[in-house]
Amino acid sequence: MRLIAALLILLLVSPARAQTVSILTYHRFNPDHAPGATTVTTRTFAAQMNRIAALGIPVVPLRALFDGTTLPPRAIALTADDGHRSVFTEMFPILKAHHFPATLFLNPPGLGQGSYLRFPELLEMQATGLVDCAPHTTSHPHFTTERARRSPEAFTAYLRHELEDSRASLRNRLGGPQDLLAWPFGIHDPTLEAAAQAAGYTAAFALGGRAAPADAPKFAIPRYQIYETDLGSRFDAVLFGIPRGAAKSP
Ligand SMILES: [Zn+2]
Repeated sequence: MRLIAALLILLLVSPARAQTVSILTYHRFNPDHAPGATTVTTRTFAAQMNRIAALGIPVVPLRALFDGTTLPPRAIALTADDGHRSVFTEMFPILKAHHFPATLFLNPPGLGQGSYLRFPELLEMQATGLVDCAPHTTSHPHFTTERARRSPEAFTAYLRHELEDSRASLRNRLGGPQDLLAWPFGIHDPTLEAAAQAAGYTAAFALGGRAAPADAPKFAIPRYQIYETDLGSRFDAVLFGIPRGAAKSP
């Protein structure tokens, strides 16, 4: 099985294969334990970043996918959704140590409260040039549920509020173009994608457990949700762009 896995990886990273980026998605970090599927311990995150460094796969800013940068055949981008404060206390020191860039997708109303990031923390991270921020809608809605409880006209207005107000709020507080979006729960469809484009976004990110090819639809770019169990061959499969479930460990 190991030989097969090695051959599979060789095939997937061979120069003939089209360029892809594995975009990793994190949520919360915890110094001691991982109580839920969206929490990764600091120790596991450190091990994952060490593995990326050991393999020498470049970590590129998310924006490099769109700004004309010539990307290497295999690249990684790091993202963290929802603006939890543990991004500052646990993730950021490790990013700095490796000099790895990352993009944070944020819901503006929660920032500065409870367990969410404070603006001085966001500004401090931005000032390093490693971290950039982008909207994750205003209230992190489940768009399928919200659509079902509104008329089409009311949903259009609601969608505009979710997409435009979050963008304006982050532009006011943090500057920058704020033109990248992450879909809450990874939910998107052609109507939502058209609304994001109309609101001024240039790209939007979903989930999907696979790497992003160079020709991925701009408003439905896939990312990998990263788990506490993503170590060893499971994590290597992500780094080499193997779709989740395609290479089961023996
Ligand atoms: Zn989210």
